[in-house]
Amino acid sequence: MISAILVCAGKGERANFGFNKLLKEIDGVPVFGKTLYAFSSREDIDEIIVVCSAADEDAFSAIAKKLGAKVVFVRGGADRSSSVLAGIKAAKGDITIIHDGARPFVTQKVISDCLSSAARYGSGVACVTPTDTIAQTAFDGDDEYIISASRANVYNVQTPQAFDRASLLKAFALKKENETFTDESGLYAKYIGRCKVSAGDKDNRKLTLPEDFAPHGNLRAGVGFDLHRLVEGRKLILGGIEIPNPKGLLGHSDADVLLHAVSDALLSSASKGDIGKLFPDTDPKYEGISSVTLFNEVKTILEESGYKIVNVSAVIMAQKPKLSPYTAAITKNLAALCGIDESRVGITCTTLEGLGIVGREEGIAVNAYCLTEKS
Ligand code: MG
Repeated sequence: MISAILVCAGKGERANFGFNKLLKEIDGVPVFGKTLYAFSSREDIDEIIVVCSAADEDAFSAIAKKLGAKVVFVRGGADRSSSVLAGIKAAKGDITIIHDGARPFVTQKVISDCLSSAARYGSGVACVTPTDTIAQTAFDGDDEYIISASRANVYNVQTPQAFDRASLLKAFALKKENETFTDESGLYAKYIGRCKVSAGDKDNRKLTLPEDFAPHGNLRAGVGFDLHRLVEGRKLILGGIEIPNPKGLLGHSDADVLLHAVSDALLSSASKGDIGKLFPDTDPKYEGISSVTLFNEVKTILEESGYKIVNVSAVIMAQKPKLSPYTAAITKNLAALCGIDESRVGITCTTLEGLGIVGREEGIAVNAYCLTEKS
């Protein structure tokens, strides 16, 4: 029988959210839910024990219920060791696998490898080779010196850590009261003996600081498309730049097809509808209006909802005029409008080989993409 112990008793103060970091959502799912699912979705795990504080139990319980996961809650102690010990005492399995609640990206392979190592050797601890060299130091008075520096035979230790439960209980019983261990591998190695290295995963990182949550949590992709008819007697404006051409784009506003597509991409990334809905062409207020004005309103909507523009890419489909002489100016202006560096704006142009609406020079179309980041 295998028992999983999820250590969720920390306050997560360094993440600075004002609530337990395990309740912070990543891609719409709380960190605790992701971590729990990594274990609750396995058939070889017979029970899951969650070590947490009384204050968080209701929230964790609701998340577990949503996932259909059966868990047993145990109160955490003053430090990690006492929290884990409380979990082990509540466990019934002959093998226990201990995992940090704040490591939601653990892979099934890492869990499987730790468990099979524990079944075979009595222990299996997820470890990864450090990217930096690890130095061992010593003090001479107040001065600290490097004695040796190497990447050989040193590891960054992660969780999960799986152990024969009886041996780990024995290690806890032998542990002196004033001794502290940052995790169970150190305790087991000291009092039981050989603690087996198992392959961890560099993505199985521990979420600690606010920025640890960002790479997976807050990026949104957006897409927008627009097409306007080319007619005589109108100006051709793309990305706020006037392009000399006998024909221009027809529309209720200045018909800046590029800014319209980019605006829609930005709104779509934030799930805020589209410019057709926000600025209806039935409203005389928007007649002949510069699309730059509309674009700035879109930007304000995004900013007020906590979105920042990361990058914008667009392909302009036009048979004529040849746009390559203007792409640098368009890129520069669009970057300024977005408030981002030019290196984050990608404008490409293409003809459609004489085919279709664009090919017959009846219109210009733009497909735009963007990435935004929600704070
Ligand atoms: Mg339009």
